[in-house]
Amino acid sequence: MTELTSLTLSAALEKMRAGEFSAAELTEAHLAQIDARDPEIGAYLCVTADLARDQARAADDMRAAGDERPLLGIPIAIKDVLSTKGVETTCGSRILKGYLPIFDATAVARLREAGAVMLGKLNMDEFAMGSTTEASGYQITRNPWDAERVPGGSSGGSAAAVAANMAIASLGSDTGGSIRQPAAFCGVSAIKPSYGRVSRYGLIAYGSSFDQAGPFARTVEDVARVLGAIAGHDPLDSTSMPTPVPDYAAGLNRDIAGLRIGLPREYFTDALQPEVAAAARAAAAQLEALGARVQEVSLEHADYCLPAYYIIAVAEASANLARYDGIRFGARVDGADLLDTYKKTRGHGFGEEVKRRIMLGTYTLSAGYYDAYYGKAQAVRTLIREEFDQIFAGVDALLAPVAPTTAFKFGELMGDPLQMILADVLTISANLAGLCGLALPCGFDDEGLPIGMQLLGAPYSEDTILRLGHAYQLATDWHLRSP
Ligand code: GLN
Repeated sequence: MTELTSLTLSAALEKMRAGEFSAAELTEAHLAQIDARDPEIGAYLCVTADLARDQARAADDMRAAGDERPLLGIPIAIKDVLSTKGVETTCGSRILKGYLPIFDATAVARLREAGAVMLGKLNMDEFAMGSTTEASGYQITRNPWDAERVPGGSSGGSAAAVAANMAIASLGSDTGGSIRQPAAFCGVSAIKPSYGRVSRYGLIAYGSSFDQAGPFARTVEDVARVLGAIAGHDPLDSTSMPTPVPDYAAGLNRDIAGLRIGLPREYFTDALQPEVAAAARAAAAQLEALGARVQEVSLEHADYCLPAYYIIAVAEASANLARYDGIRFGARVDGADLLDTYKKTRGHGFGEEVKRRIMLGTYTLSAGYYDAYYGKAQAVRTLIREEFDQIFAGVDALLAPVAPTTAFKFGELMGDPLQMILADVLTISANLAGLCGLALPCGFDDEGLPIGMQLLGAPYSEDTILRLGHAYQLATDWHLRSP
């Protein structure tokens, strides 16, 4: 059955529609692959096998009844940051151990509506804070390309599950790079949608003005199909945009001739691993050969992105995480009185990284420091957005590496929070400015680890970056290699 688990989403749909196999068989093959591979990889926090079998049977019945849907019978796994009704949702944190949401996140509900089968919940850095998935409160996840290396983070489970053929697609979330960076480290394709494109209802909040959920899959075409199913306005999320959702999959084959691609000078520095820089430049040349026009551009505020993000994101996190008090959700450690219960619950329930960020966020928001840190960072954020507006008046997309290096070894950055933060330098500008960003494989380094590039687009131009990424994948085969 192994071959069923290495299909693309588009191929699996086609074959099920042609009657070559059923959704039940496809789901069974994935459950068997999870049994075989996940003890080593550790991508899943929980496998919802019974639910998946029920949904797969229902999908087969719908197909037999002529009720065809965009993802009918496709096994998909969900980052544990998204609330799933009646299925434990921990956000990678001990403080949410045992929490059973009473509703589905809108992105999850829309997948179900589109006919997808849910395989389970995926590991992540606690509350999506991290770049390696080592900060999960439960387990590490191994990179399917090299078991001694991290899968990236915070959506490490989402990337590893697809790379190890334990799901045809998955959902993750990106606050400062957490979809694109693990996709790059694990050699899969994934998109961070523009802010407001996908509903945040039921997406457990980290930095509310940055967070977006988005899909991982084996190809850009598959990513486009899943994005099409989850995108669009949601009355339950006041920050979701009413802008109409184009048919992303249908628009993929439009010609890319004449599209203008900018290479941000500040992103191609000496700090990049040489193979990473070379692969991104070669990808730009490939797109040029396909008819795109490539030019250098300058991002003058590039140096300010990291500090602005790490002030605003932790400020928002400190407010968002105030709700975990042991009274309403998940785990509780009883204390002598109410205050003691709060302290003990939060003291035991939160990990180191989360505590560090809550303290930092509370500090930058406190009277006396608010103007100096939070207020300044917001002003800088506006400048960054305005600069991107100007840049996108002249180009249709930006191309850059996703991360300065390929996947790190376990422990390499864990003891050094500053180095960990610096590794996010290429991804966070997109979140500050609400851009969309597509990550896709563009080569391998000397040790055989995948290299990812990102195509960044102006808000609500997902169709353009998906079209560029698809054209690139039609001309190359990096995305077809598997560990
Ligand atoms: N690594 C970044 C952080 O820790 C981004 C995380 C994310 O996108 N969720 O904040």
